[in-house]
Order: sequence, then C-alpha cells, then structure tokens
Amino acid sequence: MNRHASFMKLQTVLSKLPGVGRRSAERMAVKLLADDSKLLKELKTALMVVEENVCSCNLCGSITVTTQNPCNICVSPNRANKICVVEDPSDISSIEETAGYNGKYHALLGKISPMRGEGPQNLRIRQLIDRIHTENIDEVILALSMDMEGESTAAFLAELLQKHNVNVSRIAYGVPTGSGIRYADPLTIARSIEGRSKV
Ligand SMILES: [Zn+2]
Repeated sequence: MNRHASFMKLQTVLSKLPGVGRRSAERMAVKLLADDSKLLKELKTALMVVEENVCSCNLCGSITVTTQNPCNICVSPNRANKICVVEDPSDISSIEETAGYNGKYHALLGKISPMRGEGPQNLRIRQLIDRIHTENIDEVILALSMDMEGESTAAFLAELLQKHNVNVSRIAYGVPTGSGIRYADPLTIARSIEGRSKV
C-alpha cells in the first residue's frame, strides 16, 4: 500500500465514526499526520489501552471493563426484571444518573435508518429477544429518540415484542422532539420513565 492509499484508508476508517462526514474525516487524518502533532501517538496509545481494558458488555452492549463482562448492572441481583431499550450506551449513563430507574438496559447500538442503509438486522435485536426469555423479563421500556428513525424503530420493536409475551411501554416524552434522552436533564428523564405508557 503506498502512502496515499494508507492515508485514504485512515480517512475511510475515521469516516465510519458517528457524526463524521468525508470532509471531517479528511481534516482529522491531516491533523493526525501533521509533523508537529503528537496526536497520532496519543491516539495509538489510547486505542491500545482501551482495547485491552474496556469492552462492550455481552448482554446490554454498554461499556464495561474486560474483567467485568457482563457488566455490573446486568449481573446485579437487585435489578428488576425490566429492560430499558436505548440507542447508545451513553443513554444508559444518562438514565443511571437520575437514580430513578432500577431495571436493566439494552443498547441497540443504532436505530433503523433506511437513509444510512441500517435495517433491523444491524441492531442488537436478536440479543434483546434472547434476554427477554433467559432473564425472565416482564417489561420492555422503549426509550428511543423522538425523530423519525427513533419512531420507526420503536414501532418495529413494539410489534415484534408483542409475540414474546412481554409488556411493552414507551417513555412519556418531556424530552425535546427530534432529540434523544442523552440531551435531556435528569429530572426530565426520570419523569419520562415514571410516566411511561403501555404500547
Ligand atoms: Zn451489561
């Protein structure tokens, strides 16, 4: 691979990150490769450390340490048999901060988006169904964003989950339309979960 192809490869990899377009990926790659930049080395070290010590929980998909997988929420005997379905692990931290929810979580790692070529098969839906049965889950709370993609993902899941003998509810949104729970304050999130309605 010549130098140019390597640069293109770096750019392509960076552009796979959420919120990074082709142009931003190019700017990041240039910055990383700038002569006086220590960034490349710092990034390399950070990636190696994170690869060794941190991983995605096998069950809920949240971020955990490699020595604790499944994560401490998934294995806690004090958590209710409920699963709150979110898009990203960052949503889990937002809900945990409210301290108003005592169930488990499941991160889909995305949402259905025909525009970006993401269908149900790209999300952690099969793992969710498995957990409903193996963990005796009695309620699934959908806490997805209020945009069109979040709405269609929620509708898809609500229909699918009806076949699995589990109650399905959706959080009552005080969260701004078009955004997700990670942008809402803890009180709003707590109220949204408390005021959830059956689907
Ligand atoms: Zn977990």
